[in-house]
This record gives sequence, structure tokens and C-alpha cells, in this order.
Amino acid sequence: MHKILTIGEILVEIIATEKGDGFRQATPLIGPYPSGAPAIFIDQVGKLGQAAAMISRVGNDDFGHVNLDRLKADGVDISGIAVDPLGTTGSAFVRYRADGSRAFVFNIRHSACGTIRFDEATRALVGTCSHLHVMGSSLYAPSVVESIIAAIEIIKSAGGTVSFDPNLRPEILDSPGMREALQAVLAKTDVFLPSGQELFLFTQAKTEAEAIAELLAAGIKVVVVKRGADGASYFDRKTTLSHPGFAVEEIDPTGAGDCFGATFVTFWLNGAKPAEALEFANASGARAVMISGPMEGASTRADLETFITAKKG
Ligand code: ATP
Ligand code: MG
Repeated sequence: MHKILTIGEILVEIIATEKGDGFRQATPLIGPYPSGAPAIFIDQVGKLGQAAAMISRVGNDDFGHVNLDRLKADGVDISGIAVDPLGTTGSAFVRYRADGSRAFVFNIRHSACGTIRFDEATRALVGTCSHLHVMGSSLYAPSVVESIIAAIEIIKSAGGTVSFDPNLRPEILDSPGMREALQAVLAKTDVFLPSGQELFLFTQAKTEAEAIAELLAAGIKVVVVKRGADGASYFDRKTTLSHPGFAVEEIDPTGAGDCFGATFVTFWLNGAKPAEALEFANASGARAVMISGPMEGASTRADLETFITAKKG
């Protein structure tokens, strides 16, 4: 039986209810919603009934409890999430612009999850897991990068696997050491889940086909390219497959990539055929965008089956 682990940021998300460019004027807000890319990912894994754990840190405050309560309710092992009595839980304020792009104000590096430490208890938890999922956004602080690299070594040397979603936001790309850390993770990746220009971050290639070929030649087993409303494509050395996006009304795109990735990795680890894993992942991403709030649109397997059946009509 597989157990999937993530290490990284736990935040609350607070959403501006009116579109506009950032936060330089007072604007109505709604939240807190449980959030943080690896937290959304692992919540979606837990909701699918797959064994799941997270290593992180929150403050002993309501924002921390919003997250702990949700993850626990959805079946995630939260024993690796430390509650720091002196820390404050991370936060992200997000406002959508009229063109659909997003402006963020993040408090991550200087929040409780900026001080994640790899100790004996975390080492023991990592030892119970067979797969690590890494979010590029989680490489925001040296101690988190060290924890992720240590976990990769433990899991891979025990025959486990690693998936990696670069999940880059311009606001955090220039964190110290982030580019080097991204490269180090990619070198150990089995399943790579980029979206948009992230496919070209680590290659010299000019075209998508060349970039995929380069990544597969470098030892990555599977590349899945996320294409928003247009769905996603799957590549391994033998197979190329695409699945169109399911037609839905997009209310809030945050979390779609995380739910998509969690569903793909869960199905892949459990031996699903690529076409089935891709279809369920697309359904998971589509359901995520229909609901406001980053983690609110995570799905159970029954939700996905009902959705797919209804869409195929
Ligand atoms: P995130 O903002 O969560 O980081 P991402 O860039 O990683 O997102 P996207 O490509 O935006 O990932 O979305 C992931 C998947 O979710 C898509 O591949 C698709 O399956 C589904 N999806 C996203 N947006 C839509 C949409 N508007 N309609 C239908 N499906 C969607
Ligand atoms: Mg993403």
C-alpha cells in the first residue's frame, strides 16, 4: 500500500471579492480558506482515500487550526505538522485582475512554515512513505529545501518515487537558492507535472516536443503537461496522449493544478492506465475550478465518477 508525502507551505488564503490590480487600496475580502499548494495536493490525495501525510509547521492560531482540521477530516496524517507556539501560520492574499491573472501578497518565508526542520520524528514519518510530491513553490527557505532533499534520498533509496510540479509564481521565483533547488529536485523526479512555460524552465528546447524528449531522455518516466481549460497531455517513452478539458464554468482556478496532480499521481501509483489517470485528473482539475476557494473543490473518487459519467452523458 502506497503512502504519499508532501513537505512545504501551509497557509490560509484570503480572497478579494472584487477584481482589480492588487492591494494598494482597501477592498472587500473573504477567508480564511485552508491553502498552500502542497496542502491542497495532499488534501486531494486524502479525499481519494489514498494514504497521505504532510510535513509542515503552523502557528498555534486559528489559521493553523483551519488547516489542521480540514486535512485531518479529509484523511491526511497530520502527525508531521508541528504546531509552533511562537509562530504565526502563513497567509496569502489573492486578487484576480480583469484579465484572469492573479496578484498575490504572500507571508510564507517568515511564517511558521518557514522554520520546518528535519528531525528524528520527521525522519521516522518519511520512512513510512513510498512517494514524495514536491511543489516548486515549497523551495522557499533553506531548511525546507534541506528537508525535501533529505526526504527524496530516503524515499528513493527505499525504491520509492518522486513527482514534481514547478508551480512557480513570479512573486517567489527569486527566493535565495530556489533555482538550484528546482534543478536538484528535477534530477530525482519520476513524474513531472509542469504547466505553461514551466516545461521550458530546465531545457534548452524551443518546442514542446523537443522539451519533452529532453526530459524523458534525462530519466524522467512521465511528463504531464497541464493546459488549463484545454485539459492536459501525457508523455512517456512509448505513449503520447491528450485529454481535452471538461467544459465547466471557471469560478476560481486556484488549486486546479494541485488537485489535478494529486489525482494523477494517486491513480498512477495505483497502476491505472495513463488514459484513465489523465481522465480522472482532468475531472479533478475541472471540479476544482467550479468552486471558490483553493481547497474547497477537492473531490472524492465518487464525485469524480459522477462528474465524468454526467459529462460523457
Ligand atoms: P494552479 O493555478 O493551480 O497552479 P496550474 O497552472 O498548475 O494551476 P492548470 O493548467 O491551470 O494548472 O489546471 C490544471 C488542470 O485543471 C488542467 O490541466 C485541467 O485539467 C483542469 N482545468 C483548469 N482550468 C480549467 C477550466 N477552466 N476548465 C476545465 N478544466 C480546467
Ligand atoms: Mg500549479
